Amino acid sequence: MWTEIILFFCGALIGHLVPRITWLVLPRIGAWNQQFPPHPEPIVIDEYLIQRVLNMRSFNRLSIVFALIPLGFGLASLAYGSLGLGLGMWMTSCWTLLARVVGLLDKGSPWDIEMAQELQLVRNSSMSEDRCCNSARPVWQVMAVRCSACNEILLSRARPDLGRPRSDGFVKGSFRLILSEGHPLARSASAEHVGKALK
Ligand SMILES: [Zn+2]
Repeated sequence: MWTEIILFFCGALIGHLVPRITWLVLPRIGAWNQQFPPHPEPIVIDEYLIQRVLNMRSFNRLSIVFALIPLGFGLASLAYGSLGLGLGMWMTSCWTLLARVVGLLDKGSPWDIEMAQELQLVRNSSMSEDRCCNSARPVWQVMAVRCSACNEILLSRARPDLGRPRSDGFVKGSFRLILSEGHPLARSASAEHVGKALK
């Protein structure tokens, strides 16, 4: 009885973790982060960052494919192996699959197309005549996108996980990311979107 309960939780953990490998592990390996400063330093809003947001969105969608792995193993285990392990894997991977399929509409995803568009607008604005100051350089801080020269808030959006190796280490960092699902832990600073509210 207890063995089955423990196996259920093991299965649930596997079914929860495997689909998340896509955005939890893949962007953090190899040379993927050479053009970015180390976490948690602010990131300059440039074409690399906008591409990273789009990549994180794709990695998040790829979770659907990865969720099929524990789903298949869970069903096989239900049929031929341990009931607890199979049930755990099947339940959590099914849940993830459902959440991701609904998330295909980008609802509830930490990385969506609107985010990339807003960052592009900030970037365009910083190079236009209407820029906040002569040395305009938008950077994404934890709470919002600010100009690093004049400190004005250019976009009130707290920074989600951007796939950089975490400063708090892989284990602790991953644990936090699993709990937050990549969403920012801080709430965004209150200010107008792409505006000059503070002036
Ligand atoms: Zn400025």
